[in-house]
Amino acid sequence: MIHLLFTFLTLFFMQQDPTKRTAPFEMQPLPYAKEALAPAISAETLDYHYGKHYKAYVEKLNELVRNTPFQTMNLEQIICDAEGPIFNNAAQVWNHEFYFDTLSPEAHHEPSGDFREAVDRWFGSFALLKEALTKACLSLFGSGWVWLVEEESGRLAIVSEPNAGNPLRYHMRPLLAIDVWEHAYYIDYRNRRAKAIEAIWPLIDWQAVGARYVAHD
Ligand code: MN
Repeated sequence: MIHLLFTFLTLFFMQQDPTKRTAPFEMQPLPYAKEALAPAISAETLDYHYGKHYKAYVEKLNELVRNTPFQTMNLEQIICDAEGPIFNNAAQVWNHEFYFDTLSPEAHHEPSGDFREAVDRWFGSFALLKEALTKACLSLFGSGWVWLVEEESGRLAIVSEPNAGNPLRYHMRPLLAIDVWEHAYYIDYRNRRAKAIEAIWPLIDWQAVGARYVAHD
């Protein structure tokens, strides 16, 4: 009986572990209501961003990997090994889930603990980190993502990637992703990317970001 229970729990947690996911991929639930991030991010934006753009990446990825060596790989493996449309759609699925999971209507507005120390060490202060992220978001030309990453050495860095770019390909640990594709903000802010970035700060949960950080001695 105990053995059966253990088997059941193991299977249950394996299913919950996103790194164990393989095709066909399913949409991950949005961790809050669609209107929960308003007015900074409206329900209409999430209707499109989560319900149409993200959904389309999941569906397209499933279609593309069918009967290829990628159909038994998890998302992270596909991102590191694939090129072209399979890479683009796999990375966009991963990036969006990571982005949606970082936002919260009850966000912790500042980092704490070991992660806070790392921010101070590598950027001077939390205010300077936000300034550097904002600058990266505003200077990324076209569509892409701005990432806060932890390098293998433990150093924190900002990485700007065009299109679906994901730092897992460079053996970096993603801590935060900011979506600067126009579809992330055009409904609420039109062409004003700076306004959209300014509005997103209160929604970024720095406790979630810090939980991804692994302290180095
Ligand atoms: Mn997006």
